[in-house]
Amino acid sequence: MGHLSAGFSAGAPAGLEGGAAFFCGARFVCEDVWANPHPAASINTTSSHLILFSRRTGYDPGDIGRIKKVPYDLIVIGSGPGGYSAAIRAGQFGLKTALIEKQAKLGGTCLLVGCIPTKSLLQTADVWDRFVHSEAEGIHCENPRLDYPKVKDRKDGIVNKHSKGVEMLLKRAKVERISGFATLKGGGKVEVTSDSGTQTLEAKNIIIATGSEARMLPGMQPDADFILTNIEILNLTSVPKSLIVIGAGAVGVEFASIFKRFGADVTVIEMLPRIVPVEDEDISKELERSFKKQKIRVETGARAENIRKTANGVSLTLTTKEGKQETLQAEKLLVAVGRKPNTEKIGLENTKVELDRGFIKVDAHQMTAEPGVYAIGDVVAGTPQLAHVATREGMIAVAHMAGKPAIPINKTRIPGCTYTEPGIGSVGLTEAQARAQGRKVKIGKFPFVGNSRATILGHHDGFIKVVADEQYGEILGVHIIGPEGFELVAEAVAAMEAEATVDVMMQTIHAHPTLYEAVGEAFNAVYGLSINA
Ligand SMILES: Cc1cc2nc3c(=O)[nH]c(=O)nc-3n(C[C@H](O)[C@H](O)[C@H](O)COP(=O)(O)OP(=O)(O)OC[C@H]3O[C@@H](n4cnc5c(N)ncnc54)[C@H](O)[C@@H]3O)c2cc1C
Repeated sequence: MGHLSAGFSAGAPAGLEGGAAFFCGARFVCEDVWANPHPAASINTTSSHLILFSRRTGYDPGDIGRIKKVPYDLIVIGSGPGGYSAAIRAGQFGLKTALIEKQAKLGGTCLLVGCIPTKSLLQTADVWDRFVHSEAEGIHCENPRLDYPKVKDRKDGIVNKHSKGVEMLLKRAKVERISGFATLKGGGKVEVTSDSGTQTLEAKNIIIATGSEARMLPGMQPDADFILTNIEILNLTSVPKSLIVIGAGAVGVEFASIFKRFGADVTVIEMLPRIVPVEDEDISKELERSFKKQKIRVETGARAENIRKTANGVSLTLTTKEGKQETLQAEKLLVAVGRKPNTEKIGLENTKVELDRGFIKVDAHQMTAEPGVYAIGDVVAGTPQLAHVATREGMIAVAHMAGKPAIPINKTRIPGCTYTEPGIGSVGLTEAQARAQGRKVKIGKFPFVGNSRATILGHHDGFIKVVADEQYGEILGVHIIGPEGFELVAEAVAAMEAEATVDVMMQTIHAHPTLYEAVGEAFNAVYGLSINA
């Protein structure tokens, strides 16, 4: 995943915030601020911490149960992409920082049981799919064999490697890692409970980055054998013959796409009228069409009830949108009905932190209603639960507390990627959202069937849709479904961030033959000027 590999070059100057300089009006002023190597010196440091505290170990056993005399500049709770990136950035700024993580391994949902392991499986599913369907390219593979335990080992190896990488990066940034469960105590205090006891730490600033966990259906508990969440399904040691997925958001459709290509019989059940419901409606339709072509059964506007474990799997009653009832059986059931924020039992009642349906309310700089307490990532109300959002919010929070330029997140410039086949990448307003805002829109659409690179790859499904403002050609949104859609969206994000218009993108030269030529064609299509469709 991009943000992780970027993390491995953390020794480089604090480049991620570099773009912020453009927003300051006077570029040289911002560069000067960024160049200050030790901003922390002016904000938080007390003399006591120099004497009393071992940075390496954090505390000695004699301290257990007492309040530490040594305040940190920052305590980060949680080592997901939000927490670990924020801690590293704080270290780069010279802040005395501790990161508390309750799990043995670092990396959070994204690295351990989310983005990275799923994409590892998707990559192997892609390779396998190509082997199975290689005859069209003149390659004959006699009896290809899928060694799924090895597929899982490879996935676990990638996860472990990157988790160790996070550990190494934290060390390099002089961030102190503390193991245990953190509870906020108010007044800048955090209690940490672990096997070795309880200690109380103190900091000028705290970042809550405790992430989220899978929601379950009422009355159901996940287990290792039949009723699975993202955690248990990633531990399977063989491909199930059949899989029912409840929930067709990004997590649900990605697992459907993985296991279908590994050979499972897959059914997706979604209560809402369409799959990937946060995407533009045309994207949902195209993914459903493509899934059905791949023989994934998709039931939208449908309900799954009477879910029961059987001797060798699960059974449930499906009520379709037409009101027909049917009993479905499968070897495994994946529940992918969303993620709830980890905001319970972390001591928020000891603070003034305000919640909105369980999510933490923050201002534009990620500050909560409790002075000095910030929240980032999946726990935050109003921003999507995505790794790169968590990371960005961490950068904003740390820059703010360090007195650096901290540009608030722009919610219309957040890319969303779904790594199905075909892949989805989108940014900005959907057509329906733009129209609902009263914008006069022009749409440009270019199908991948007109792109020669897509033909060469043998992946023709999908299109690129540009939503533009009619009057000035402002780019309001770009929605891609097709080969590498999740990579291609990068151009649209950069164009929108740079406030390029459709005209600018029409003049931009796109190399041939590439998939991203289709992006250029879609911008031309806004004015009916695409060449190859
Ligand atoms: C299957 C799946 C696939 C996904 N794929 C993608 C993807 O491709 N791209 C993408 O952008 N997003 C993806 N996501 C979402 C992404 O994983 C999350 O948005 C991201 O991990 C959120 O980061 P975070 O830092 O807020 O929290 P998390 O990554 O959830 O990390 C929180 C950490 O805090 C720790 N913690 C919690 N409470 C405490 C406590 N009290 N004390 C100490 N430690 C605590 C947890 O153990 C955990 O390590 C996926 C999610 C799933 C489930």
